[in-house]
Amino acid sequence: MVHRFCAICGKPLEEDAPHFGMCLECYVKESPLFEIPNHFSFRTCLDCGKYSIKDEWIEPSENNIYIIIKEAINRFLLKSLYRKGTIDLNSSIDEESFNFSSKDLLKSLEMVISGTSKINKKISYQQNVKVSINYELCKNCTNLRGGTYFLSIVQLRVKDEVNFYKIKEVLDFVYTQVEKLFEKDPRQYITKSVDEKYGVDLYLSTNELMNYIIKILRGNYHFVLKRSKKLVGRDIQGGKNLYRQKALIKFIPIRRNDVIEIEGKDYIVESILKNKVILRNQKDEKLIKDFSFFFGENLSIKHEQG
Ligand SMILES: [Zn+2]
Ligand SMILES: [Zn+2]
Repeated sequence: MVHRFCAICGKPLEEDAPHFGMCLECYVKESPLFEIPNHFSFRTCLDCGKYSIKDEWIEPSENNIYIIIKEAINRFLLKSLYRKGTIDLNSSIDEESFNFSSKDLLKSLEMVISGTSKINKKISYQQNVKVSINYELCKNCTNLRGGTYFLSIVQLRVKDEVNFYKIKEVLDFVYTQVEKLFEKDPRQYITKSVDEKYGVDLYLSTNELMNYIIKILRGNYHFVLKRSKKLVGRDIQGGKNLYRQKALIKFIPIRRNDVIEIEGKDYIVESILKNKVILRNQKDEKLIKDFSFFFGENLSIKHEQG
């Protein structure tokens, strides 16, 4: 049997050398298993996580930045390699390389793409790719944020003018908390506020934010809550129905120690529970009333000073 030698390094060739005139090491160096650009950049939507390199926005299987990166790499950078079908590919994210923006968004990172030939498992190759991520809003989310399609409304109401001070106090509180939340999650913000006769309507960027506001108010105020939703259209890209959710929040017009006249007797507001109020008169008679009772038309309430 004739001995063959590597044309590059001169080493004797093994029986299963991948090439007629080269050893495995030289062969891999001379003709890498695959070649891809060293840099890849794509856009992702800040609100919904869809990603894109040109016009089309593609929905990821999950709105999670790691999944979005892998899917974008597979779809745009490695597509032709996958199509060939001759290489087993694997991509891994190097967490050490993460670069964040001032708003804590992952801006760039290194990925290692490695591949092994399906024909000869000894032939493998790996390459680093620098990935840059640009954050934008997809067409659909731009419309949503534009205000025509805000997702939810919180309606803050008091019973009458006497209680307007409460709206002001609640607004200060809500705006402060929402600004803090926005720092952490830029999808959460108040689109606009509209004055109404007995309060204010807050238009919100997400339904999540509506629930958040209800939760923080519950910890600090007593109110009656009524939720409703209305079909306003369809998400053109996702094909889902879009609902505008509403939460009507009516603050009860009483505080502890207020005096209320019921059937000719004066009662003091002794305590306000989760959805009930305990009242007591001078004869130590106790009354328990639902919140809704205090929205009655001819209720006489004398507010405790201060
Ligand atoms: Zn060689
Ligand atoms: Zn979007």
